[in-house]
Amino acid sequence: MAQTPFLRLISRLTSSVLALFLCFPSATAWAQEIRLFRIGTGGLLGVYHPLGQALAEGITTATALPELIAVAQTSGGSVENVQALLAGEIEAGLVQADVALWALQGRGPFAGDDRGRHVRAVASLYPERLQIVTRRDADIRSITDLRGKSISLDEAGSGTLAVMRIVLEDHGLSEKDLSPVYLKPEFTTEKIISGGLHGFCLMAGTPAQAITTVMDQDLFMVPVAPEIAARISRRHPYLVPGMIPADSYEGVPETATIEVHALLLVHEDLDEALVYEMTATLWSEQTRFLLHQAHPQSRSVTLDTALQGLSVPLHPGARRFYQEQNMLPLETPAP
Ligand code: GLU
Repeated sequence: MAQTPFLRLISRLTSSVLALFLCFPSATAWAQEIRLFRIGTGGLLGVYHPLGQALAEGITTATALPELIAVAQTSGGSVENVQALLAGEIEAGLVQADVALWALQGRGPFAGDDRGRHVRAVASLYPERLQIVTRRDADIRSITDLRGKSISLDEAGSGTLAVMRIVLEDHGLSEKDLSPVYLKPEFTTEKIISGGLHGFCLMAGTPAQAITTVMDQDLFMVPVAPEIAARISRRHPYLVPGMIPADSYEGVPETATIEVHALLLVHEDLDEALVYEMTATLWSEQTRFLLHQAHPQSRSVTLDTALQGLSVPLHPGARRFYQEQNMLPLETPAP
């Protein structure tokens, strides 16, 4: 009888636990039998987390990766995920392309840290959009109106905060010109409703649950005009002009903003064969089904666009997969 992914996971866990007991007291037997594969995501109400959970389920139940148990871990976001990858605290992480480039080049939050040159891409997944949501009664219609307002810029460690700093700077503002707080969106909901906060920001796919949760309030999505986004793009090439689609949130019209690709990253030292299998698993029918069930933004997660907006080199294991799909030329040995 065909097993559901959940049953397969249970039977794999059961057989792994059995194996542990058979091999006890050898701890190395356990280590060989099962390996934890940690995926760094973001806050609970963003898009990284539900998609990371679906990917973790895909990896855990993939027949080609029988020894792996994958888990999606919440985190501060892109910057923290890169730091955790470099510290060996996670095996893969979801990271904005602009933040990934900073890591590679030892810039921005990674200034003085040359370990970032080891970050490698598995795939580009989908566009993330800067969403600045405010209470309509706060009278914020543009970025400059944020001055003096109580705005949550997301946590330190988030890609959202990194992008907001760039956007504010472009308008001649700094965080100190606002009355900033640094909360993950799941902790802003009550404050937005009570009026304790004028707004919050999130660089994420759409729709983000952080926003749908408060959509029954009278809210305004602050635009970033295309010419401003284009100007920012000249200095930060992976941040590009984009649009929050009209159908993302009820009553919110299409809104101009800044976009960036969400990448799946690993450390260069991760085993080539493992990354190859993981890439194949990501693009397998089963994982794509799980992704589609997890979040509507997954409709943009397609093999056709897997190489778009990559700001760091592919991991060799991922490159081999795309070469086999004829998406990349085969490397010819140097003469
Ligand atoms: N891009 C955001 C960040 O790096 C996270 C978005 C999400 O959680 O979906 O902070």
